[in-house]
Amino acid sequence: MHLAIIPEQIQAKCHCPCCGDQLAPGVTADPWATCMVCKRDHRFFIMPEAPLAVDTARAAEASFPEIRNLSLPAIASFWLSDPRARSVLNQQLAQLIRVILESRSVLNEPRFSFCSTCGYTFGNWEQPDIYVQGLRCSNGHLWTLRGGQLTSVVEGKCLSLQGEYADITVSQLIGVWLGGNPYLDPNLHESVRRVLMSSPLCPRDAMEHGD
Ligand SMILES: [Zn+2]
Ligand SMILES: [Zn+2]
Repeated sequence: MHLAIIPEQIQAKCHCPCCGDQLAPGVTADPWATCMVCKRDHRFFIMPEAPLAVDTARAAEASFPEIRNLSLPAIASFWLSDPRARSVLNQQLAQLIRVILESRSVLNEPRFSFCSTCGYTFGNWEQPDIYVQGLRCSNGHLWTLRGGQLTSVVEGKCLSLQGEYADITVSQLIGVWLGGNPYLDPNLHESVRRVLMSSPLCPRDAMEHGD
């Protein structure tokens, strides 16, 4: 595990994609993520490089005796911070665990209207990948948007700003993870399942499934 490398240009100055104001470093429960926040409390995350699927598919079988007697918040913190645990933790699970630890309420997903590099407004940009939305500012900076994640190439490196999930999205994602899925289950350690079930955003029917 290593922290994401943040381009110098972005470190020096970058703009909130929601309101165009300047983003500054923020506080987060995820020690491997860089949080950027504006004055209106729009938060974005630069995540570390995601572990490979072949590694996260070993999480359910992983053994961490040291967490046996810990509280659920302490277990959640362990999964986020311990390099051995984090290196097998699915990136979406990492984000859900962070949301649960921070217990923030986010009513609406962020709207991506402003270029993070220069603060100019976005227009659409026709690009060939049908799975992403292309965005282009009037200064010619090109970004793509997919699943609440804004991505561009800055100083030759890929940079992604992940917006916060709205509460309704968190509920849906927890429901999917707890719903019993042969592709997801190998990624889900029993202790992480308990952390997801402890969230007030955990859907009721998912809780019954999880038992
Ligand atoms: Zn903002
Ligand atoms: Zn721009």
